[in-house]
Amino acid sequence: MLQVRPGLYLGGAEAVAELGRLREAGITALLTVDTEEPDFQVEGVWKLFVRALDKPETDLLSHLGRCVDFIGQARAEGRAVLVHCHAGVSRSVAVLTAFLMKTDQLTFDKAYENLQTMKPEAKMNEGFEWQLKLYQAMGCEVDTSSAIYKQYRLQKVTEKYPELQNLPQELFAVDPTTVLQGLKDEVLYKCRKCRRSLFRSSSILDHNEGSGPVAFAHKRLAPSLMPVTGSRAQCTSYFIEPVQWMEPALLGVMDGQLLCPKCSAKLGSFNWYGEQCSCGRWITPAFQIHKNRVDEMKMLPVLGSQTIKLT
Ligand SMILES: [Zn+2]
Ligand SMILES: [Zn+2]
Repeated sequence: MLQVRPGLYLGGAEAVAELGRLREAGITALLTVDTEEPDFQVEGVWKLFVRALDKPETDLLSHLGRCVDFIGQARAEGRAVLVHCHAGVSRSVAVLTAFLMKTDQLTFDKAYENLQTMKPEAKMNEGFEWQLKLYQAMGCEVDTSSAIYKQYRLQKVTEKYPELQNLPQELFAVDPTTVLQGLKDEVLYKCRKCRRSLFRSSSILDHNEGSGPVAFAHKRLAPSLMPVTGSRAQCTSYFIEPVQWMEPALLGVMDGQLLCPKCSAKLGSFNWYGEQCSCGRWITPAFQIHKNRVDEMKMLPVLGSQTIKLT
């Protein structure tokens, strides 16, 4: 068990094997990131358990928010905190790196280096490294509505594809023809041929914004073929999150065309393994709509009425 900040400890399974040692260190908050929850109850000890394997494909990012909050709240109450996993080198290190990034406002590299200086054998797996870089790109807040998080989620689904029987429903953006809320200040994209509403601007997963060149460069899935130097003008397609009307076309195949659900005009294509944008960037998975097949329509706030007429 190693103290990385006053009252903040890092450890492996051995750290929780002896309750006496926990008591000695005055630890009253325990964060376990492992496959099994430690089977003891000590009165007055706060516990948080996050089930996670030490594998690159494990989704740790989605849990970072509550982990960091847990540590922060415990420390705010004057509790000493132990963050541990099995070996104390990867999962717990990743969680503590996130905590240091957020609270000490450190970059991923600095925070990780800081821990490795104290514990030279600390080494998180490459998937966690990538996830922490996304965490940094999101400003140390896991914003599930951000393009970065949406693209990350899609990549996680791609890793399990094609064994999937069903795609998780929350993966799909609501069909803009069925929902009238939240359109204010958004741009609606319609089929150029038949005017059917296809997607909203919030569904666009912009690859030139905020994420930086490393963000999507997941080694196995998304080789970044070219540095991101291009402006958006170079991109001839919109890469978007899947929208409900696409669902029948997506399941059971790796790639195909995206057709307008109303007039069957060819709008673009999808590929679970990814496609390259005209700007050079490789996007995985890819759901792309050619810009010249759709028209933009700005939705203006409608005063005194909740209804916006859509065609
Ligand atoms: Zn159409
Ligand atoms: Zn592009």
